[in-house]
Parts: sequence; structure tokens; C-alpha cells
Amino acid sequence: MSELKYQVNEKGYYGEFGGAYIPEMLYPNIDELRSEYLKIIGDPAFRTEFDQLLKDYVGRPTPLYEAKRLSDKYGAQIFLKREDLCHTGAHKVNNTIGQILLAQRLGKQKIIAETGAGQHGVATATVCALMGMECIVYMGKVDMERQRPNVERMKILGAKVVPATSGSQTLKDATNEAMRHWINNPSDTHYIIGSVVGPHPYPDMVARFQSVISEEMRIQLSEKTGSPRPDYIIACVGGGSNAAGAFYHYLDEPDVKLVAVEASGMGVSSGKSAATTKLGRSGVLHGSKTLLMQTEDGQVVEPYSISAGLDYPGIGPMHAHLFASGRGIFLDVTDEDAMQAGIELSRLEGIIPAIETAHALAVFDRLPLTSSDVVVVNLSGRGDKDLDTYIKWGKY
Ligand SMILES: *Cc1c(COP(=O)(O)O)cnc(C)c1O
Repeated sequence: MSELKYQVNEKGYYGEFGGAYIPEMLYPNIDELRSEYLKIIGDPAFRTEFDQLLKDYVGRPTPLYEAKRLSDKYGAQIFLKREDLCHTGAHKVNNTIGQILLAQRLGKQKIIAETGAGQHGVATATVCALMGMECIVYMGKVDMERQRPNVERMKILGAKVVPATSGSQTLKDATNEAMRHWINNPSDTHYIIGSVVGPHPYPDMVARFQSVISEEMRIQLSEKTGSPRPDYIIACVGGGSNAAGAFYHYLDEPDVKLVAVEASGMGVSSGKSAATTKLGRSGVLHGSKTLLMQTEDGQVVEPYSISAGLDYPGIGPMHAHLFASGRGIFLDVTDEDAMQAGIELSRLEGIIPAIETAHALAVFDRLPLTSSDVVVVNLSGRGDKDLDTYIKWGKY
């Protein structure tokens, strides 16, 4: 094998991005994780239990579906990796299953998590119920009002949802509260972060748990096309976990083009956007050095997207490196174009996608596709949770 240029290095960096920029009080927790995670994940007994749960509880492997009518329309062979068929409706549960098994092996009794729209909170509350562990989810007070059904789902599952009332009362404030809780309860609590963000080893750990997506893709593509390698893989990027999972086993195979799609909201220069690579600069966010949207003096800019899961002011360090190195192709899609692409998939294939995912479905005509190209779109989630947004948008 040639050198792995796009994987994390032993210091926790992807190129110049990554690392662990954390308050001293968190060193013991992060140090414990860093020294244990590879050993635990590499243990065959861990892998057996993880694989069994992914199969029987989550419903893996998820199908790789050839979307014939979509393929006809765009003149390429387009496959959909059906993460929308996972239990709880999206890829996020792959990571929460992995992390709760890891927490058990670290001897932790309690789980904390942060959530924005509530999707990661629900995936965390789900695995805590499964394992009989105590679960506290921090959520901005404003987000709790906007995402009532997910708050109730978490409560039904037995989780305690704690409102974050500082700042703008959204995701970053919830993250701060979760960090504070962890500092005060280091020995009995594991913090489940929901994307490939946060201090090392989180981005790598989450990417490894999500990498089952591209592991399955290689086998399924070989069966369906005769080669494990597609020409393009397309995924939406909030923090970047579904994209990291879909790209993972192709990172160092440069003939596979990796397309990351960010949300530009009302337009890149509208002031209401979440297109980090277009608007961001290098800085430290949630414990890692990465690209983030910030003011001249380094204040984090409040992001905007119609999809709550892409409404994040940064991207994970792996993606910052894919962008800076030119390995990844970064595109951005507005609310309007994403909504249209969501309706298009519904009409052509009978699949209503999550609005996050719809962003990834809006870029076919921006790529120089030919009829021999094999394209895989990571269908990160289903649209049930977004019905209200579709109804409000109304153009269908
Ligand atoms: C949360 C979410 C995302 C965005 O998160 P990533 O970490 O970037 O994958 C995308 N799609 C769906 C369906 C989600 O729930």
C-alpha cells in the first residue's frame, strides 16, 4: 500500500487540521480515550458485538440501490447508498452504537450528548435505552422549541433533555454545556459526539464507526459493476460524518472523486448560509483546528440552512484537509435547489429524502458526468422528520 495521506496521523492531525485544543480539566478524559480507543475498536470481541448490532438492530448492510430513472435523467449510472433505511432513519446510529459499546468497555455508567436538531440526541437516547444506561442530552432552548417532536422522542426513550440557556441557545451552547458536565463528572461519564468534529480522537473514532458505509459499498459495487471503485461519491456535509463514512475506504484512491456538498442557505453571500469552505477561515472550534465561519476578530458566525443537520459553522478536520489539499470537490447548494432535488427524488424514485441529503442530490448537473460514470450518492437519511419543512415550502 502507498502512504495514507488523508487519514489521521499519530498526533491526531489531518494535514494542518485536527489536534486536541481543550481545557486542562478535560485532559484526563481525552487522554483515556486516546490511549484506549484503537485497542478497544481493534478487539475482535468488540467487532463481533458491533457487527451483530449493526446487522440485527440497525438493519445493515443497507442496500446499494441503482436509481434507474434518476440515472436516465442525468446520463450516468447512479446508485443510492440507503442509510435512510437504518433504524432511527439516518446514519447517525452507526456511530452511537459504536460509542456506547466503547463507553461500556471504559467502565462508564452515564452518557451525555449535545444535539442541534435532535437527530443525534435521538440516536444517542436510542442506544442508551438499548443498553440500559443513563442518558442526558443537552439542547439549546431555542432548538427545543423548534424541534419539539425530537424532544418528545428522546423523553419517550427515557433520556433527560436539558435546555442550554446561554448565548444564542442553539447547538454551540449545548456543546459548551455538555463539555462543562463532562469536566465535572470525568470518571463515570462518556460524552458521545455526533459527527467527525471535536478534539482528537473523536473525528477519527467517529469516522471509523461510520466507515462501515464505504466498507459495504466496495462489496456491493463489485457485485453490481465489477469494480469496487465508483467514479464519484457524493455526500452532504454538516460536521461531515456521513461523508467521512462514505469516503473512508476511498480516501487514498485518487481516481475516485469525492464530492462534499455544503449548504449555502439563502446564498453564499446572503449572510444566511452554512457554506464553511466558501466563507470560513482556519480557527479552533469545539476542540479542533479546522475551517470555521468567523468574524474578523474570530467570533463564531451563527450559521443558517433550511436543514437543521447542515446548520453548523464548521466542518470536521478531515474535510478541512480534503478541501485544502484539493482531494475533495466542495460544492454548495441553496435551500431552494435542495428542496427541488428532494421533490425530484420523491417523484423519480419514490424516496422522500431528508433535507440534508437533498443537498447531495442537487449537484448532478454541476459535474461533467458521462454515461459510463458510476456515481454513488450517500442517502444519509429519510425525510419523515422534515415533513413540516416540505409542507411550508409547498412547491410540489
Ligand atoms: C445529522 C445529519 C446530517 C449531517 O451530519 P454529518 O455529520 O455531516 O453527516 C446529514 N444527513 C442527515 C440525515 C442527518 O441526520
